Parts: sequence; C-alpha cells; structure tokens
Amino acid sequence: MKNSEKSCPSEGNKGSTRELRFPPWLKKRIPARGEREHVMSLLEGLRLHTVCQSAKCPNMAECFSHGVATFMIMGNTCTRNCGFCAVRHGVPEPLDPEEPRLVAEAALELHLRHVVVTSVTRDDIADGGASHFAATIRAIKERGDCRVEVLTPDFQGKKDDIETVAAAGPAVFNHNVETVPRLYPRVRPQADYGRSLMLIEYINSHHPTMFTKSGIMVGIGESRREIRAVLKDLRCAGCDALTIGQYLRPSPEQLPVSRFVPPDEFEELEEEAKGIGFEAVASGPFVRSSYEAASMYDEGNVRSEAATMGNEG
Ligand code: SF4
Repeated sequence: MKNSEKSCPSEGNKGSTRELRFPPWLKKRIPARGEREHVMSLLEGLRLHTVCQSAKCPNMAECFSHGVATFMIMGNTCTRNCGFCAVRHGVPEPLDPEEPRLVAEAALELHLRHVVVTSVTRDDIADGGASHFAATIRAIKERGDCRVEVLTPDFQGKKDDIETVAAAGPAVFNHNVETVPRLYPRVRPQADYGRSLMLIEYINSHHPTMFTKSGIMVGIGESRREIRAVLKDLRCAGCDALTIGQYLRPSPEQLPVSRFVPPDEFEELEEEAKGIGFEAVASGPFVRSSYEAASMYDEGNVRSEAATMGNEG
C-alpha cells in the first residue's frame, strides 16, 4: 500500500549488504524542530501514529506546516510482507473502536486542512478493515472542515469492501501500484498488479467525481519502458493523479536500491505523465504518496474544471 521508500530485485537479494552511496541530490536539510515536536506530543497524548513520524519522513515538517498529515490506522503490524517495507509483519492486534474519533479529534486540534488516512493491510479481518476506514472518514468529516484522502490496501479486490470505503465519501481515493508488474513477486508478493488497477478502475467508473491517485517508486530494478507501460495502464484505469519517488532502503532487511534516479529523469517522467493525461503529477527524489497531497488535489481540480469548461464551450 504505501508508496514507501526502498529498492532492487532483478539482481539484488533481499537482505543483501550492497549499498549505493547517497548522491548529493538526496541530502536534505532537516527543518526546524518546533512544529514537529508540537505535533508529535499531541499525537502521543491521543495514542495515534502518523506515517510521517514512523517513517521519519524527510518532508514531515513541510507537510505539517501546510496543514497535511498522514495517519496510520488499524495498528502497526501488517499481514503482508512487502520486500520494500519496514512495517512489522505478523498477527495484528484487534481494532480500536475509539480510533476513528481520536483521529478526527487530532485533525481538528492540529487545524489540518487535508488528512491522509492509510493503514497496514489487514487480511485477517473479514472486510479488510473497510468499515473502520469508513468510520474514520465519517468522523473526520463530521467534526471539521477538512478534506480526507485515503491511501488503502487492495482489499483483496473485493468490490463490496472497496465500495464501503468509497461510500463514506473521501475526496481522494489513493491506492499505490508501487512498482512494475514484473517485480511484484519480490516487491509485493501477496499483491496483484491487475487487482490494484481494477480498484482504481472501479472507483473511476462508480464514483466518477472522486479524485483517484496512485504512486510508484523508482530505483528498485524497473526499466524506463516498464515505467511507461505502468503510466499508461493507470491512465487507462482512469487514474487522475500520480506520485513518483525514489525508493530508499529502510534497513538491510529490505531489498537494495538498484539506482538513484537523477532529478532530470524525474522531470522527464513528470512531463511524460502529464503528456498522457494525468491531471496532477508529483515526481522527484523525495516525493512520497502524501507529498503535496493538498496542492495535488487543488491542481487536479483546477485542470479538470478547465477541461470541463473547454468541453462545454
Ligand atoms: S501491505 Fe504491509 S508490508 Fe506491504 S507496504 Fe503495506 S504496510 Fe508494508
């Protein structure tokens, strides 16, 4: 699910000790601590986790200061074991029925204008956690003037569960394909590329006004031709917005980085994606799923309104 940050299959082994040296463009100044500390202490008090803090995301202070944060619901143990992800794998804890209310209170307290709600994959729950997602979306919308973006697992392709989440009315439905189909056995062994595309296609056809989004990481062993094919598949599925970021290996337990993609290649990919019709694209070494989430939504809406006016004219 989450467009995380890490690396290479074709040659590399999971657990390989081979490390590439960080290039200069991946060194980022860490912003002032004040904002971050304030948010973290509030979240600790509410027993909540943000992906921002768990993943030590380099964009954290930037996002918080723009009123954007990503909450991880349904615990921090995942039933899947993706090759790029450092989230613990095992038997997850039971759901906390208070969690939707607590997330909504935190969003209100932090004056967030765009909340991203994501989760581990919960294949152990009958509906994959879809009702819990829906309850969280509703709680946030009831308490404040705050837009909700969900970044969901694939719900094993079960349309009823996907519909449960969509019916709660998130502004953005995000589901990451993460990588090219050839690499799925190593990068997302329990997922299925076609199933992920189907989820986006379902939202696009049954909720046409809902903004759909997906993301991939690069530098994990894919070729440029394969990336191009994924972009086309996503557009054919009706995906509106796209994030493309550099995979960074979270620890030696995960797949190694195959290469650090230079900034000018990210720019080319952004141009290509816009050229085939994505309404909003964020592409760069530090881009993650929720990066500039609020402005991507705004940009996408401005473009689709302009296109509608053009069609009407
Ligand atoms: S499904 Fe689980 S293991 Fe895979 S990326 Fe999501 S949290 Fe990580």
